[in-house]
Amino acid sequence: MVNRRNLRKKILAFSRNAKINIHPNSPYLCPMLLKTTKPNVRSFDKDELREFFKERGEKAFRADQVYQWVWQKHAKSFEQMTNLPKDLRAFLEEHFLITELHTSDCQRSADGTVKSVFSLTDGKTIEGVLIPTPKRMTACISSQAGCSLDCKFCATARLKMMRNLHADEIYDQVVAIKNQAEEFYGKPLTNIVLMGMGEPLLNYKNVAAAIEHIHSPEGLNMAYKRITLSTSGIAKMIHKLGDDEVKFKLALSLHAADNEKRSKIMSINDTNPLEDLAAALKHYYAKTGNAVTYEYIVFKDFNDTVQDARNLARFCKHIPSKVNIIEYNPIEDGEFEQTTEERLNAFVQVLEREGIVAKVRRSRGKDIDAACGQLAGKKS
Ligand code: SF4
Repeated sequence: MVNRRNLRKKILAFSRNAKINIHPNSPYLCPMLLKTTKPNVRSFDKDELREFFKERGEKAFRADQVYQWVWQKHAKSFEQMTNLPKDLRAFLEEHFLITELHTSDCQRSADGTVKSVFSLTDGKTIEGVLIPTPKRMTACISSQAGCSLDCKFCATARLKMMRNLHADEIYDQVVAIKNQAEEFYGKPLTNIVLMGMGEPLLNYKNVAAAIEHIHSPEGLNMAYKRITLSTSGIAKMIHKLGDDEVKFKLALSLHAADNEKRSKIMSINDTNPLEDLAAALKHYYAKTGNAVTYEYIVFKDFNDTVQDARNLARFCKHIPSKVNIIEYNPIEDGEFEQTTEERLNAFVQVLEREGIVAKVRRSRGKDIDAACGQLAGKKS
């Protein structure tokens, strides 16, 4: 049962932020003052919507219908909700907003990768990528507009942080890329990686809510095992993933398995050193039983030696894991280079000798700046 005081507080808080008045005896926002700013209908969960409908003297199942329209049928207006009475549709139109993600730019790489620039309702832009392979159709999506972290190899870091994405904005990227997979390739979307712009664990509440909608049969009905959250390594939040016993998969952008080197390219390591990450990962594994994937970009003359591979193998042994070795994609004015094929092979051989499962991932979409670490809001 929804807490009525919380619902009232939520609507009042919205009205305060939007600088509009609210009727003192009503849980609704005053319709006369809502011409330009209305609450996002998808910011309410199902119980809150039911409560709202009940207060208006409507049957609770009407809330279920609205919920289904906005999350499962991707309705973009209340007018489309044809199983609702006309006056109710008009009432909802007057009181609520349905946000929409616009695809403002879409580029297709020679290898079939599709990069999209999505415009949000406040004009900010984010990027998402469809990565087609013979076996999979993967959506790589963003969790924040910009990023507050400053990983040296990443183009997004140069944009700085603009804001966290709401759950519906994260969800809508998946819907848009799913439609592209169907339209361009006639195939269903099979996988989702939260590996685009932003650090998902710094927007945990909204990311978790979006994943629930993506997984839910009332949403996109995607199995948890097809959803991967990739983090730069925030120990406290990895611990929380364990506490929450999450079922989706976890990837950690490691890129160096000694503190000195890792801090040089990822300042998050100063406050979240490898020892803290290992402890958090052990807790995560104990609570979820899920193995983790380590992402490791091999930079020439930086982290590509046999000793670096040995360090990585040692770190991998904390919990069941595998490694994705990622080809580096140079960014404008970047200070790194891609390692040589010879060094890459030697690196992988060390891992294999140590019994670590490692796969080399060749980059996709390099020609359109859609490859890993290249998302930076550049237009064609
Ligand atoms: S790699 Fe990820 S966490 Fe690091 S700056 Fe880029 S978007 Fe942010």
